[in-house]
Amino acid sequence: MNVSEVAGVPEWLPEHLRADGIEELYPPQAEAVEAGVTQGDSLVASVPTASGKTLVAELAMLSAVQRGGKALYIVPLRALASEKREEFEEFSRYGVEVGVSTGNYESEERWLGEKDVIVATSEKVDSLVRNDAPWLSRLDCVVADEVHLVDDAQRGPTLEVTLAKLRRINPGLQVVALSATIGNADALADWLDADLVDSEWRPIDLRKGVHFGEALHFDDGSQEHLPSQSGEKATESIVRDTLAADEEEAGGEADDGRGSSLVFVNSRRNAEGAAKRLANVTNDHLTGEEMAELRDIAAEIRDDNDTETSEDLADAVEKGAAFHHAGLSSTMRSLVEDAFRDRLVKCIAATPTLAAGVNTPSRRVVVRDWRRYSGEAGGMQPLSVLEVHQMMGRAGRPGMDPYGEALLLAKSHDELDELFERYVWAEPEPVRSKLAAEPAMRTHLLATVASGFADSREGLLEFLQETLYASQTDEDAYLEGVMDDMLRYLEANGFITAEGGRLEATGMGHTVSRLYLDPMSAAEIIDGLRAADRSPTALGLYHLIARTPDMYQLYLRSGEQDEFTELAYEREAEFLGRLPSEFDDAFEDWLAALKTATLLEDWADEVDEDRITERYGVGPGDIRGKVDTTEWLLGAAEELAAELDLGIAPAVREARVRVQHGVREELVDLAGVRSVGRKRARRLYEAGIEDRADLRNANKPVVLGALRGREKTAENVLEAAGHTDPSMADVEPDPDAAPVLD
Ligand code: ADP
Repeated sequence: MNVSEVAGVPEWLPEHLRADGIEELYPPQAEAVEAGVTQGDSLVASVPTASGKTLVAELAMLSAVQRGGKALYIVPLRALASEKREEFEEFSRYGVEVGVSTGNYESEERWLGEKDVIVATSEKVDSLVRNDAPWLSRLDCVVADEVHLVDDAQRGPTLEVTLAKLRRINPGLQVVALSATIGNADALADWLDADLVDSEWRPIDLRKGVHFGEALHFDDGSQEHLPSQSGEKATESIVRDTLAADEEEAGGEADDGRGSSLVFVNSRRNAEGAAKRLANVTNDHLTGEEMAELRDIAAEIRDDNDTETSEDLADAVEKGAAFHHAGLSSTMRSLVEDAFRDRLVKCIAATPTLAAGVNTPSRRVVVRDWRRYSGEAGGMQPLSVLEVHQMMGRAGRPGMDPYGEALLLAKSHDELDELFERYVWAEPEPVRSKLAAEPAMRTHLLATVASGFADSREGLLEFLQETLYASQTDEDAYLEGVMDDMLRYLEANGFITAEGGRLEATGMGHTVSRLYLDPMSAAEIIDGLRAADRSPTALGLYHLIARTPDMYQLYLRSGEQDEFTELAYEREAEFLGRLPSEFDDAFEDWLAALKTATLLEDWADEVDEDRITERYGVGPGDIRGKVDTTEWLLGAAEELAAELDLGIAPAVREARVRVQHGVREELVDLAGVRSVGRKRARRLYEAGIEDRADLRNANKPVVLGALRGREKTAENVLEAAGHTDPSMADVEPDPDAAPVLD
């Protein structure tokens, strides 16, 4: 189907797509159009990675906008929200206004009502529903990206409940659900009353296979000899071969950077280790020009933060390789992704986070580890077929490669057979709703009652009937049982009342739902705040929020038990709530929360980032993640303290602001100035500039000296502080003005 034959879309669209090299729709896209996706009909599209799902979403959203409507695009990760916004902002020149909702959970973000296309995570949409954002009832089209994640125990239920609520608020709402290839796309389509496009089509062929011995065994029965150099591991031989094969294709000329590989491993440490080794392979295939460009990127990485992680990453990047995992800061992550897309970085060793969503196609994919450590199930567990297929699907760059190749690695003949059976020939698993888990139920039941979707047990049951869970189970009694348990829990904690069969949220229940807290977190925080005296310490507050289920805790490593037990007794007086006995199961959780709390305390005490990453065994991205969660939870604690009239809200706020900026109290004002940050704030302070007002009127040579002669930085800082003349032209730094601290 030619793009000009698509009915219902804005008339500028075909021309716009042609300019992007899109002339004919891919077959699954054409099927979607035939199924009515541009006429407001709901659709589930289950198609392989990189076969053009985004365009299906765009066709749906733009045709809704064309009809005068409004569309919402739900992404699974915050990082993807900005990626999608950038893509959709292409349409702003035709008057389509795009907004991304990244604000705090407790706001309704009225301004979004003005936008035509809105991008948000499922958590954010859930919170907008709870806060009664008025524009939600004016939606015409909702796109759910990566909808197979309804199967995810942590985040799936939120997506599921949110879709059910949006459909209830807007009868006749068009739902377009995009999914990787799964075993039961028809079940999703049934649930959403949608048509189904279930396709295996890919724009570029994918050869799947297994490496064993000195050969690659492919699914079409063919084999390729792959000699390895002595002492070399299989992954290294494959990466070397990928680079060399490309040089041959390029006519024996110097490598033009096309032979890229993605290597999936099962832990951050393995990603870092693999990148280090693979860098020695890629290093032999760089041109002088590439080396210079890679050096610049490495410098940007070192500039972002000075930790061992950034140092290691920069070292690898200089040699044309990289690692990618959730411990990287977002700047590091996008530098790596861009350099890979620009074909400068030839190989990324990644944890599976990279397989979800981010668009980084590659000539070859190696799934090096097909087992992963699982605390819950115990020991090493095999990855799901769905996950492995998603990783494999990253192989093959349309327009660049003749085909993509995805390989697993076998160490024995038996394993070779097993991997073919388990992954190469296998169909992906069906997805199943995880809604019946207790944390999900208590959270969503409270929200459902608080936002008026149901006011009785029967009403709740009726609402639950609209979820995927109900459409997948014959055992309604089980869900009902969990529901009743959770209703009792909510009532016992004072979040709902159930008089005469009528369910109502209490004032506190409304607040908890609006603040987006798990009711169990709220109960813990309320108890802790009540136990506090007037001036709880920052550590006490960090510990309180660190022990709620909304904080992802640090694990205690072997040997740390004693260290933190000792610390727990030392600082016992600061805890908000009673330290459990050492014989109690809760004791270990308490210690893990203490470890998280001391990380936050170090951060707020201006301990260097590299010391923190080393001491706690985390990456810079983890610190950022913990800080964000803390800001949210302490913000919520502050509101709860105010609502309970406990008089400690100011102490909570101070702890929150300090962690937000990573500084001691005296620097809070300065660190809040754009481009300043914790280190520069300290240097300015040491030079006698104590707050924003001082900065606004500061002597320029002093500022320049404190910022180590960096003129551009000094100008940015002065401008952000509102200085009347931030220009540094003609200013000589005063060498005595500031002590150099590091
Ligand atoms: P998915 O979301 O399915 O993983 P994308 O939507 O990101 O895949 O599409 C992958 C690539 O294919 C994008 O670069 C996109 O521009 C391109 N593409 C999509 N549809 C077409 C088409 N009909 N013709 C040519 N290229 C297309």
